[in-house]
Amino acid sequence: QVRVRFAPSPTGPLHIGGVRTALFNYLFAKKNNGVFFLRIEDTDQNRYVPGAEEYILEALKWLGISPDETMGVNEKFGPYRQSERKDLYQQYAKDLINSGNAYYAFDTAEALDAIRKEEEEQGKTFIYNHHNREKLDTSLIISKEETAQRIANGEHYVIRFKTPVNETLHLHDIIRGDIKFETNLLDDKVLFKSDGMPTYHLANIVDDHLMETSHVIRGEEWLPSMPLHVLLYRAFGWDAPIFAHLPLIMKPIGNGKLSKRDGDKLGFPVFPLDWKTEEGISSGYREKGFFPEAVLNFLALLGWNDGTEKELYSLEELVNSFDLNRVHKAGAKFDPEKNKWFNHQYLMKQKHSDLAKAFAPILAEKNIQVTDDSLIRIVSLIKERAHFVSEFWEMSDFFFEAPTNYEEKATKNWKSDTPALMQELISVLGEITDFTSTNIETIVKDWMTKNEIAMGKIMQPFRLSLVGALKGPHLFDIVEIIGKQETIKRIEKAIT
Ligand code: GLU
Repeated sequence: QVRVRFAPSPTGPLHIGGVRTALFNYLFAKKNNGVFFLRIEDTDQNRYVPGAEEYILEALKWLGISPDETMGVNEKFGPYRQSERKDLYQQYAKDLINSGNAYYAFDTAEALDAIRKEEEEQGKTFIYNHHNREKLDTSLIISKEETAQRIANGEHYVIRFKTPVNETLHLHDIIRGDIKFETNLLDDKVLFKSDGMPTYHLANIVDDHLMETSHVIRGEEWLPSMPLHVLLYRAFGWDAPIFAHLPLIMKPIGNGKLSKRDGDKLGFPVFPLDWKTEEGISSGYREKGFFPEAVLNFLALLGWNDGTEKELYSLEELVNSFDLNRVHKAGAKFDPEKNKWFNHQYLMKQKHSDLAKAFAPILAEKNIQVTDDSLIRIVSLIKERAHFVSEFWEMSDFFFEAPTNYEEKATKNWKSDTPALMQELISVLGEITDFTSTNIETIVKDWMTKNEIAMGKIMQPFRLSLVGALKGPHLFDIVEIIGKQETIKRIEKAIT
């Protein structure tokens, strides 16, 4: 059975790259009738940030990709929080010592620094492994009795992995293909510390094994850990899962990984939800007014496509089309404009009644009364040019309030004969009984033709009187919606 996991460390808000990792795991699980579970990797207590776990769960829920198993949900392989599995890991670390795959190390930070310096002076890069094992303070060179004694004395120690010497590892990754690693270039990584906590590496491998993870799908930043992880599975005598390392998400401009700073600079969020700290709020997609479906659709195409030109996918379509073999190796450039484009597409798909419902609270806050029918009509007229519901007010304020000033550059269209013509227009409008858009348009245009009045002489000052600027949807739709009385009132005000 396919079982995949999202395994974030609760060190802060979920970055958009993390969301994409969760999404790809979700899609792969659903495509294969598998299980998508969430495990919290909180063994590094120095980096623990309160609230981060709740944030991660809420973000996945908002996006509609909640895990099938996690804390409090189908706890088949629980607990799902590593800090609650603490007692488990020590035995596994000891098993590796007993099988000769790990050892105790007592080196102090100062001693390590000294060796590092000495090697660097000789032009070598310091690697903690068999190269310098004779200089290091470990159970590989001291006796069993001394080791036991020092541990009993309460001396600080770590348990390190004993990396095999002179081996070329031939590994396979679904996305990156065949990869070779030389074990001589690997550090003997710390697996366990005397404070009783495992490191990420040990806990991750033990849990992926116990939780029967079939595929590890994670960001490319973990690729360098892959050889150690495979060696750990081997040392335990376990089958390793299949690996797939997802390409990095790159800055919109320039090179390198997308960072929060790029978002701040260009005004787009890099977090799914607002994240509040004492220093302020980092804005999230939800609060910026993105539709969760649009965010998922956009993220799915960061590093993947189905080989066609298709860009708009529902979550269900993504599940059906998703294929890990089609994920790209190269980094995926984050395009904030495309991001907004997706939101516009999803906005266009919403029912007008839903858009009206989303807009209503903004109007209520301004004490504006409007019938459901007119509101539905208004959103249908403006949505074409909107990316977000939050832009609706600015795009439609003239439906609800008469303009208080007239955009300066547009008043060029206001000539000396304009007031007289507008006065005539008032009389024409006053006589219309069927005050609907097309009818008003026909009558006004007939009047202009009959009197040989140029279009520009009427249409622009007319719009300016109603809107205050030369913007907005079809003029006669505006006229119908604001009504005869208000239309005439606004023209009168503009010409006085
Ligand atoms: N806890 C790791 C992280 O924060 C998980 C990496 C992995 O998926 O193995 O991303």
